[in-house]
Amino acid sequence: MTWTLVIHGGAGMMTRERITPEQDEGARAALGQALDAGAAVLSAGGSALDAVEAAVRVLEDDPHFNAGRGAALTHEGVAELDAAIMEGTGRDAGAVAGVTGTRNPVSLARAVMEQSRHVLLGGEGADLFSRDHGLEQAGQDWLVLPERRRQLEELRARGADSFDVDMKYGTVGAVARDTAGHVAAATSTGGVTGKRWGRIGDSPLIGAGTYADDRAGAVSATGSGEYFIRAGVAHEICARARLTGMPLQAAADAVMDDVKALGGRGGVIVTGPGGEAVWSFNTAGMFRARVGSDLARSIAIYGDE
Ligand code: ASP
Repeated sequence: MTWTLVIHGGAGMMTRERITPEQDEGARAALGQALDAGAAVLSAGGSALDAVEAAVRVLEDDPHFNAGRGAALTHEGVAELDAAIMEGTGRDAGAVAGVTGTRNPVSLARAVMEQSRHVLLGGEGADLFSRDHGLEQAGQDWLVLPERRRQLEELRARGADSFDVDMKYGTVGAVARDTAGHVAAATSTGGVTGKRWGRIGDSPLIGAGTYADDRAGAVSATGSGEYFIRAGVAHEICARARLTGMPLQAAADAVMDDVKALGGRGGVIVTGPGGEAVWSFNTAGMFRARVGSDLARSIAIYGDE
């Protein structure tokens, strides 16, 4: 039986001029480690759910990406983290929004899925759930990095309206199909720099930034979240594939075109019951990588790779 894993570390203005050689190298190394973590689970016959969690945890801990350690900061300079996870068999899902004290929000999302009757917990309640359920805690001193403070200062200096100008989205995500034929998806993010008023993006919203359905596929998105919410991106890709029999690549491309028509930018990764390993993005680049039992490992950043 075959397995597939696709991961991303965000989409945006990634061009060779804007990414330093150190960033390029560091991001590729981290993507490689995340692939290894997920592939180890899948090649041993483990579940897609375990694989996407394992891959996303690596990216959350890595400072190159906007999730966990190194997350984008709110207007007030706080790391408020969002994450979601979903499995495609029973369409069970868990998510958290605006959490401030958990090292690996993707694992907190999984705890919400498996240890509560709820799907989405937010803010202080989610932080409390995290402590009550023994998730590893990490303070703002661990989550917040100087580079993110600098980005926030730069944004503030440009004025409040430059919310996501020059964005280099660094949200992370993973989708997998395991040897039993099941799919799962996970996404984790700090959201957008300078966010205010409890703003929540698409990442933790089931059907917008994250979705998994064994009948269609698994999707994790990254980009200007407001548009992804309005287009219901992750569910829409799965629905098109399921209802029309359209290949997942065509469904992903069509929905990303729709996002672009609304004014949104970003990308998605998708896998399906057939072991497809798809990505689609309408930005200059996207940190992305894939591997499978029948698929050579590849890691890419720029649009022309
Ligand atoms: N989609 C995320 C959000 O809007 C941002 C990102 O992809 O970096 O919160």
